Amino acid sequence: MINDLSQPMGADVAEAIAKAEKRFYGHEKLICKYDMQIPAACDREYARILKDLMRIIKEELERELPTIRTEYKRLLAQKRKEEAAGKRNDGIIDELYMAVSQVFQRILNQVLSRTQGSGLRRRLESLAHLTRKLTIKEWKKAIHATLGLDIREDFYLGDFFQKQLDIWRDQNVDLIKTIPHDSLGKMRDIVYDGFTKGRTTKDIIKDIQSVYGNSKARATLIARDQIAKLNGQITQAQQTGIGLTEYVWSTSKDERVRDCHRAFEGQTFRWDDPPEIWHPKMRKGVMVGIVYEGRKCHPGEDYQCRCVARPVFNKGCLKNIPIATADKKAA
Ligand SMILES: [Zn+2]
Repeated sequence: MINDLSQPMGADVAEAIAKAEKRFYGHEKLICKYDMQIPAACDREYARILKDLMRIIKEELERELPTIRTEYKRLLAQKRKEEAAGKRNDGIIDELYMAVSQVFQRILNQVLSRTQGSGLRRRLESLAHLTRKLTIKEWKKAIHATLGLDIREDFYLGDFFQKQLDIWRDQNVDLIKTIPHDSLGKMRDIVYDGFTKGRTTKDIIKDIQSVYGNSKARATLIARDQIAKLNGQITQAQQTGIGLTEYVWSTSKDERVRDCHRAFEGQTFRWDDPPEIWHPKMRKGVMVGIVYEGRKCHPGEDYQCRCVARPVFNKGCLKNIPIATADKKAA
């Protein structure tokens, strides 16, 4: 979709476009001169949302741990006694499973109801808007640095991204709810498994705490991943919205960039034809080839990708840019 600015071009706009055209020096394309950044403030806000969730999980878990400990100890003692007497202990294992699954279900329900109550949906909604706002700022800088044009930010504040932002918010509400579900499920399995093997209460609690630690670490990854994805989607809408067809793949150029994306660095790709993702084929620690994964991605779409699409401007796009002219700036 190309922007419809629905207004006749004024003389000042025509003049600004003519000036911008000179910056192409007769070429058809002009690569963006500004290094666009994924907004770090949004990563931090997303991380805060998840930190609050993890705190709720911790509180609810701690409230129930004494019950888990007591039941576990009691039934384990009974199980050992019956084993010593050479009796079958299926009944006790069932009893433990029942008691433990009830406790974890109770924790999960509490966590979900408190998370809902903490306004998760609303917080993700404002985060989506913040991401849009800061991504527009980067877009504005990119256009200013490359074409010398100032865009009307308000153009992008209306319905332009609303649908995308709504989808992102809903997907993230669902995604965040999977965190307590997954981590509490893992903890419950530790208790089941430990009981069958006759492990001590102390060991079980230790493992539960380590699951909690891993979930916390995973939460940070989710935050970065989701903000980069939303940033990528908005970027794509901005660029294709003014009629750009190509971009240059730009990585964060640090050692964490995966081989495939590093190979894409500096290459030009089309918005209607993303490159296919691959991973190295290793033999005895040496890369011997590549394996295509059968999926195609734009920057930011791949899991944990921090790459961005550097716009490739074309002369035709100039008339589609929502330019802020002197009189509109004053208004
Ligand atoms: Zn990447």
